Amino acid sequence: MLIECMNLLHEDYHIDPKKIKVFNNRYLFVIYGLLKEFDIGYIKDAFYSRTKGTYRTGDDNILIFTYDLNGKRHALNTIATFYHELRHYYQHNYKTNKFNLNSATLHMSENGYNTQPHERDANRFASRMMNKHRKKLSELTDTFNWNTTL
Ligand SMILES: [Zn+2]
Repeated sequence: MLIECMNLLHEDYHIDPKKIKVFNNRYLFVIYGLLKEFDIGYIKDAFYSRTKGTYRTGDDNILIFTYDLNGKRHALNTIATFYHELRHYYQHNYKTNKFNLNSATLHMSENGYNTQPHERDANRFASRMMNKHRKKLSELTDTFNWNTTL
């Protein structure tokens, strides 16, 4: 499902599916964070289930947490988060002059609006793409069972 959403975007955004980790269990998300991250902000937000997605420059991985996928609105929310993190991937791999994201762990959480340029850019990109592909995305979310991964 997320792969289909990704394929709607330009090929620069087509990340290796193995680099996308989807969690629908908060505890696994927190444990993964404890093992892989030493970013206290990530762990804290994951614990309180505020984190919706993360992009790590170190291994180019995107982590998506689907904790509140009970309806279509939440499904679209997750896709927007996914697009946001894909934009960080793009910033890191194609826009290195503009955005210096070296050894960064960027996470998107519900509170704490971030005004840094790379976050504003990622938010703008996500809403632009949600609008552009609105029709296709609502078709996809109507038919998809969000309890399965990817
Ligand atoms: Zn971000």
